[in-house]
Amino acid sequence: MPASVDTARDVLRRTFGHADFRGLQAQVIGEIMAGRNALAVLPTGGGKSVCYQIPAMLRPGVGLVVSPLIALMSDQVEALRQLGVKAARMDSGLSGDERDAAWSQLSAGELDLIYLSPEGLMQAAVLERFARTPLSVIAIDEAHCVSQWGHDFRPEYRALGRLAEFFPTVPRLAVTATADARTREDIAAQLHLEDAEQFVASFARPELSLSAERKGGRGHDRVAALVKARPGQSGIVYSGSRDGAQRLAERLANEGVAARPYHAGLDSRRRHEALNWFLGEEGAVMAATIAFGMGIDKPDVRFVIHADPPAAIEAYWQEIGRAGRDGAPAEGITLYSASDMAWALERIRRREGPEVVAQVQARKVRELYAMLDGTACRAAAVRRYFGETDALPCGQCDRCLRPPVGVDVTLAAQKALSAVHRLGGRFGRGRLVDHLLGKTKGVSESEGAMTTFGVGQEFSPSGWRGLIDQLLFEGLLVEQPNDGRPLIALADPEAVRAVYRGERQLTVLKEPQGAGPATRSGRPRSRRGFAVFDIAPADEALFEALRAWRKAEAGRQRVPPYVIFHDQTLADIARARPVTPTALLAINGVGQGKLERYGEAVLATVAGGGGARP
Ligand code: ADP
Ligand code: ZN
Repeated sequence: MPASVDTARDVLRRTFGHADFRGLQAQVIGEIMAGRNALAVLPTGGGKSVCYQIPAMLRPGVGLVVSPLIALMSDQVEALRQLGVKAARMDSGLSGDERDAAWSQLSAGELDLIYLSPEGLMQAAVLERFARTPLSVIAIDEAHCVSQWGHDFRPEYRALGRLAEFFPTVPRLAVTATADARTREDIAAQLHLEDAEQFVASFARPELSLSAERKGGRGHDRVAALVKARPGQSGIVYSGSRDGAQRLAERLANEGVAARPYHAGLDSRRRHEALNWFLGEEGAVMAATIAFGMGIDKPDVRFVIHADPPAAIEAYWQEIGRAGRDGAPAEGITLYSASDMAWALERIRRREGPEVVAQVQARKVRELYAMLDGTACRAAAVRRYFGETDALPCGQCDRCLRPPVGVDVTLAAQKALSAVHRLGGRFGRGRLVDHLLGKTKGVSESEGAMTTFGVGQEFSPSGWRGLIDQLLFEGLLVEQPNDGRPLIALADPEAVRAVYRGERQLTVLKEPQGAGPATRSGRPRSRRGFAVFDIAPADEALFEALRAWRKAEAGRQRVPPYVIFHDQTLADIARARPVTPTALLAINGVGQGKLERYGEAVLATVAGGGGARP
């Protein structure tokens, strides 16, 4: 390693309080320190920010960070200030005075880092000012937004390609958590990083336990049960619609959960309030649309529940990835249905744009549902999707813990397909099930005379619905949304014939009895996260005392508790019970700046609070 990386490691220890670099951090930093461009794909929580923050602090000039969201910027800037790093943001949320102050700090050479939005940066006047400012590095956060092959294309990102010509001598670093190979190539092309080294970390997130289940009858009941089984934990519940998010938040609040809604239907003041509440509160649950997303850097989110499924595997990984950023155990739970899949495909069909893009997006949808409804380890499936060839089963997802048992249902599938054929695709799922059971109310003479009428006594209504879902997921049936009154028709005729002829067998998965992430883990986590952080009973009181001190301190400073210390750091302190500043400094997450600010208070809490260890 070159000397510059050793210097960078000193900063990591002294300022950030971390013992050593993780994963690819040292390599990425080495590249930027040498003045070269780079593209880094590191998983959420993988520590992307220090990859540009440290070079920005060490190289001459100010580091310019392009970031898509104001919330993300203010959070990062606040966290940096807590560490004693000179950082500012320049966004539309600033008052004129604040803006002037930031500019004068900048021209006086007093800043290590400045954060801007793409629109903010690419204005001629702003670019001109930066042309006269020495720059250490240009970082482009959430760089997948530049590519239409990604899942979150933002047209305003395209303009960032011109940074190459404006600042040809400044090293540029593009970072993202999710980009498959094609998206990576596109990012490199769009941002003129063709010659840049690409650093792609493993997509593994060992702290996440994944599970997915088909939606049952009433989705919100299930969501409420899942949330209530995790009391005191912070979480995000994603809904596919504003209305859904709103109703879920109300439902959860009615049932005593600290929950609020977040979606684009709320005005920006209320969104801002909700965000601050979520960041500042321990055990807060946000019921949100994906408008609540990018850059939510709250480290202690313990679960993400998709009440409606995400758009693609990239989105899944990014959304689920907002849980467990502090590295402590967290869960991602997804509810999905065949109708969700049909709707997603329909939306892509209706969207305007090039046919190739629609095809790629439709394939992404199918790959998502193949993973959700598949039998293989979910974590390994995601990693393979991102191009990892050596992903082993994770050992902790629902599929790994309880391998599903397949039951042969070929005969029943033939009955269902033939009923759909005879009914001519004119009916939805409920009528189809009634037909198979022979329970259609006021049945017409012609329907009653069909050979498929009442032919399906072997299953209950829910058994048939499960089988119909299976046929939809396997592409044997299609559901046409028909403006909210979906109709079911035969899909690929060749595939359907193969089932009729018995050449293609069908199996459904038999879930173990009483299954469901709320109960089946068998370890309902204790209220205050003792189990999550592996805290011995003897240390619980001290952990609580440290959290209480942190909450009060955060209140005084009007910052979220985690910018003071992470739960994980408090847990380590509670375990180690340091009595000297040197011992406290040895704990991960305690750097020089934090020691100076909080050392005395923490040592006093350790000495006095929480009672003595028995
Ligand atoms: P992301 O890659 O998701 O943007 P961040 O940069 O926010 O991740 O870092 C995630 C967390 O990991 C932060 O709390 C950060 O302090 C911590 N972190 C970053 N680098 C290290 C390291 N080398 N050792 C320990 N913790 C680290
Ligand atoms: Zn697994």
